[in-house]
Amino acid sequence: MRDRREYAEPFRIKMVEPVQLIPREERRRKIEEAGFNVFRLRSSEVFIDLLTDSGTSAMSQSGWAALLQGDEAYAGSSSYEEMKETVQDIFGYPHVVPTHQGRAAENILMTMLVQPGDRVPGNMHFDTTEGHIMLNRAEPVNLVVQEGYRISSDAPFKGNIDLQRLEEELDSNGDRIPFVLLTITCNNNGGQPVSMQNIRDTAELTRKYDVPLFFDAARFAENAHFIRERESGYEGVEIRDIAREMFSWGDGCTMSAKKDGLVNIGGFLALRDEDLYHRAIQWQIPFEGYITYGGMAGRDMQAMAVGLREVIDEQYLQDRIGQVRYLAEGLAHRGVPVIEPPGGHGVFIDARQVFPHIPQRDFPAQALVVQLYLEGGVRGVELGTSAFGRTDPDTGEMQYPELELVRLAIPRRVYTDRHMDRVVEAAAAVLERGGEVRGLQLVREAPVLRHFTAEFARLP
Ligand SMILES: *Cc1c(COP(=O)(O)O)cnc(C)c1O
Repeated sequence: MRDRREYAEPFRIKMVEPVQLIPREERRRKIEEAGFNVFRLRSSEVFIDLLTDSGTSAMSQSGWAALLQGDEAYAGSSSYEEMKETVQDIFGYPHVVPTHQGRAAENILMTMLVQPGDRVPGNMHFDTTEGHIMLNRAEPVNLVVQEGYRISSDAPFKGNIDLQRLEEELDSNGDRIPFVLLTITCNNNGGQPVSMQNIRDTAELTRKYDVPLFFDAARFAENAHFIRERESGYEGVEIRDIAREMFSWGDGCTMSAKKDGLVNIGGFLALRDEDLYHRAIQWQIPFEGYITYGGMAGRDMQAMAVGLREVIDEQYLQDRIGQVRYLAEGLAHRGVPVIEPPGGHGVFIDARQVFPHIPQRDFPAQALVVQLYLEGGVRGVELGTSAFGRTDPDTGEMQYPELELVRLAIPRRVYTDRHMDRVVEAAAAVLERGGEVRGLQLVREAPVLRHFTAEFARLP
């Protein structure tokens, strides 16, 4: 990969949105009022918002111009045609079911194909995917390769599915497997890519067992970029061609356009098979709306068509992935323990190494999120005991997740490298005063997905 000092952003800034770092004393008050949970902060209280890369991208002038050309016809909108042709061109699937976002596409796919008692294998399902599988009373089965779980591994494709375990699964439960789902890139272990070889091998296996293969394509362009950069035989190949090849191995995909669609809302389900499409639209209409708009306004589809064409641009991707790597390297250089290599959309910090004195029961990753906000007005997200800890229903004891991570997800085309420098400084300051930081205790929690609304107090 090229050194970031050898090139510059492939855009210039035409419109600005002011942000400000409120004074430290005020940050202290705000985070306390928010119950030490950054989800409860207002965005105006945040200086650099790295909570998520979902729906937070900056659209281009072409994207904004497209909004004015939206065709708001209920049926047969030209904006739908525009979006459909773009999806056909990049993904190669003839049938396109628009939805309001990625999870709605999952809802249609799962409702259509998943039966109670089924098992749905994949490399590692995203939270909402897992949710939809479980709502259909089936079992999500995560089969990512072992390196995918290892913080210290610098394997190039840590998002790959373990083919041997997949074959065992297909062999012993074949009749209960409605399809296999590959998530590219693999969000839940840090946006790690899946290789073309692994996609091809997965396709061959699923064909042997006559099971369809689908993709969760939310970050397909970032995945294609990693293939181009790291897999032999793909150097210099156009991203569009790599994308076409990836999808050629599957039967369809779900897409959250809030990621690699470069828009703030939208998604779709794309399918190869016509009969399946006819089944899908039976669910689409009651769930999402008529077949030519799904959950979107005409203008949203028009902008998405632009975003999908822009996201496969190699200059854009080099800058995008380069910025993620720039942040990871900056942090590592200052001794902040980050997971390497970083994935496509963010950097993960190992909170247990930052605060070795805070036991897992006192929420070290949540404490790190709070500290990053206090030091630099930076908002990250906790992926540790707050998000994944579970109270055992039988013993009442807390079951702890393996990792205590903080994710800094970078919105696309939104922040400059100087913002990233401020993030590095904030993290370095946290590290410097690390020993003085105390853990947290929960004072209020919801029964499910508690991390969004939980309230904490500082331990004495
Ligand atoms: C965000 C995401 C989804 C869900 O998409 P939404 O647009 O948020 O509904 C599904 N899969 C992956 C991998 C995602 O990152």
